[in-house]
Amino acid sequence: MPCEKELEESISTIAQLGEYMELAPQKEAIIQEIIDIHPMCITPYYMSLIDENDPDDPIRKMAVPSEEELSLIGSYDTSGERENTIMPGLQHKYAQTALILATNRCAMYCRYCFRKRLVGLPTEEIMQRFNGAAKYIEEHEEINNVLISGGDPFILSTEVLSDFLERLSDISHLDFIRFGTKVPVTFPDRILEDDELLTLLGNNSRENRRIYVVTQFNHPREITAKATGAVSRLIRAGVIVDNQTVLLKGVNDDPETLAELQNKLVSIGVIPYYLFQCRPVKRVKSNFQVPLYKGYEIVEAAKKRLNGHSKRFKYMMAHRTGKIEIVGVMDDHIYFKYHQAHAPDNIGKFFKRKINKTAGWLDELE
Ligand code: SF4
Repeated sequence: MPCEKELEESISTIAQLGEYMELAPQKEAIIQEIIDIHPMCITPYYMSLIDENDPDDPIRKMAVPSEEELSLIGSYDTSGERENTIMPGLQHKYAQTALILATNRCAMYCRYCFRKRLVGLPTEEIMQRFNGAAKYIEEHEEINNVLISGGDPFILSTEVLSDFLERLSDISHLDFIRFGTKVPVTFPDRILEDDELLTLLGNNSRENRRIYVVTQFNHPREITAKATGAVSRLIRAGVIVDNQTVLLKGVNDDPETLAELQNKLVSIGVIPYYLFQCRPVKRVKSNFQVPLYKGYEIVEAAKKRLNGHSKRFKYMMAHRTGKIEIVGVMDDHIYFKYHQAHAPDNIGKFFKRKINKTAGWLDELE
């Protein structure tokens, strides 16, 4: 990768972090305790977006470990990923979609990550033999799309990505291939400086079988000139770029920020796809999750500020049983609809739960 050196200069130790921001000795000890369990990695580029004078800076909150990560409320596998695993690195939860966990590495380890259990850590959940996964996909004709995720697949070399695409291109029942990557947000030089990657994506994004990049911008300040340039290069190569935002306390949990984010995304050519409820992940929930009721109010207030194009996203909960849309609130109930479900009979099912203004997840509602 041409910009590998930049990645090697990422901030992963307390000493390196101390070069960018003042840390009280007591804080240093807490951060050390946390990164011994869940590593820290911040690209110099993403670090440059942090306002070092603001202890509540939203960009900082997403990147720098904090004391709240000591809270163990929640679980490490909130969506039942293990129970949908066919073989290491291959999940098949919804009939039409295969999910490949191609690596445990990312350019940055987001503090709110729902795969905290594996990113940057030794794990057996990552793909070991791509051919085995491809063979399974080939034998299951109901699968019409593959999502290559991780970790962040764009951290892999262009050569490895090329092998994946070559193998998948032989499978005639695939309609499209997606890459789930935060590289446009945290490490845009990977896209700006690697012409081979762009050529590879462009050559594989054919008229009748597009490559999609599903990225994750969470705050308008992440939409910089570099990030915009990276998105432009992908679009010019023929790739379609979608965005999945996570609703995060202290980052984007106000209507103005959320509306500005979605408007800016549309202006640079990114399609607003989902707004995810933050999952009740251990070491994440207390620090980042917004209660569902409040989240719904924020989303509706944001949508009042948005044009139709910018409010195409759905407010969703990636639950163990399926993808559930948070549809509305009426009287003393909150209404949901299964957008996607592990049990096919549940797809489209509409249901309600009694409002509990502090609940952050379906299982916490009566
Ligand atoms: S880039 Fe994605 S997988 Fe990696 S830490 Fe961030 S949210 Fe998790």
